[in-house]
Amino acid sequence: MRVIVLGAGIIGVSTAWYLKQAGHDVVVVDRQADAALETSFANGAQISVCFCEPWASADAPLKVLKWLARDDSPLLFRPKLDPQQWRWGLSFLLQCSDSAFERNVRQLVALGRYSHEALKALVAETGIEYQRLERGILHFFSSQKDFEAGAAGAELMRSYGVDRKVLSREEVLRIEPALGSFQRNIFGGTYTPSDESGDARVFTQALARRCEALGVQFLYEHDILALDAEGGRVSRVRLRDRRTGQPVVLQADSFVAALGSYTAPLLRPLGVPLNIYPAKGYSATLRLKHPERASMVSLLDDSRKIAISRLGDHIRIAGTAELAGFDTRLDTPTARVRCEALVRRYEELFPGVADASEPNYWTGLRPSTPTNIPYIGRTRLPNLWVNAGHGTLGWTHGAGSGRALAELMNGRRPALDFGFLDAGGTASPTRRDARVAA
Ligand SMILES: Cc1cc2nc3c(=O)[nH]c(=O)nc-3n(C[C@H](O)[C@H](O)[C@H](O)COP(=O)(O)OP(=O)(O)OC[C@H]3O[C@@H](n4cnc5c(N)ncnc54)[C@H](O)[C@@H]3O)c2cc1C
Repeated sequence: MRVIVLGAGIIGVSTAWYLKQAGHDVVVVDRQADAALETSFANGAQISVCFCEPWASADAPLKVLKWLARDDSPLLFRPKLDPQQWRWGLSFLLQCSDSAFERNVRQLVALGRYSHEALKALVAETGIEYQRLERGILHFFSSQKDFEAGAAGAELMRSYGVDRKVLSREEVLRIEPALGSFQRNIFGGTYTPSDESGDARVFTQALARRCEALGVQFLYEHDILALDAEGGRVSRVRLRDRRTGQPVVLQADSFVAALGSYTAPLLRPLGVPLNIYPAKGYSATLRLKHPERASMVSLLDDSRKIAISRLGDHIRIAGTAELAGFDTRLDTPTARVRCEALVRRYEELFPGVADASEPNYWTGLRPSTPTNIPYIGRTRLPNLWVNAGHGTLGWTHGAGSGRALAELMNGRRPALDFGFLDAGGTASPTRRDARVAA
């Protein structure tokens, strides 16, 4: 079968890999000059199977309200005259209950586990190197109240089978001694030893090279303009070559939409109403002046909701979310505030360890769903498949999402309790619940 995969981020490239392994003829199309140049470029680098709580929870609405007025708040909602934003916001509110949280977290844990196994097998098979560190993720707290809430959260997550330990300040410092100069502000932590970190861009680009070596064709620098449908099926995809401006039309037996936040607008004209909205995030990557004093364990700083990951002789600080449409500018006042806050916080935690004078700032649009659960499966058009909406966890769920979609396209049901999208009406009960609101 000839399959066209739309999008060469972590999700599209992983999907292409597993489809090729299954013997299909695969073409990947992307507007950039290489794989992973948009949201998969400089994210928080965490493979975060055990820290996977969705944003929507019973106490989320109050927190968001409190943060509304602050330019440096972890989650910023900028209301716009955009029906998609309001639809997303209302669906999000419907997910802010204990029962929805439980339903969503169970699926995220299931996909995370499946994906971690897939990633490990893929790395063992290909030998791809991407600054991988298998040292767990350490979440530390800067107030007693937050620590107590974190300990209660760890207890809850353990009930879903996740290995999350509660640590005293001394135990936090034993796991990550580099936090020593901040120790008086640490009240405790939680730790997930089986989580890991690594560079999503390096991994995705290396996997794309391996795909190419197996015969996958990559059509870079092509804008995807539209999908045309005939007789209830997608018949072709219309592209524009960015270098020449010339139109290009491609046909295939099946199409996979893996365009992150841009998947929803592309599929809307076909009557496929995905509730994916961009949540803008930022990262700063700094060169380490004193690598011997820098952290090795991937960190979550609870008070700022930021991730800090070691990538060789660099450190990546990432986080914050802004629901304000498809805006990828880094030169706005808000963007400046948010980027500078990342570096300032790193300096507070690890004074003088990194070169803060030349930060490498980046922004990306998390393809977010109200549930945090991605859409993986078939749409109402039988030859149009989706792998998108991975929100905060696309790197964590990348390999597994690629493998799962390839399995579905080969007519098999992947071995995990997850509500795959299936317009044929066989979606699992968990997914049906999620789809009503998503
Ligand atoms: C600040 C931040 C920190 C994060 N930290 C983590 C983390 O620590 N761990 C984790 O698991 N996840 C993290 N994420 C989330 C993760 O990065 C995303 O979920 C993931 O990258 C999404 O991958 P994707 O392949 O769906 O999208 P993308 O990587 O954006 O890929 C989509 C591709 O489609 C192409 N495309 C889109 N529209 C068109 C078009 N019209 N024509 C042609 N091509 C098009 C783009 O060029 C792009 O290459 C973070 C995200 C952000 C923003």
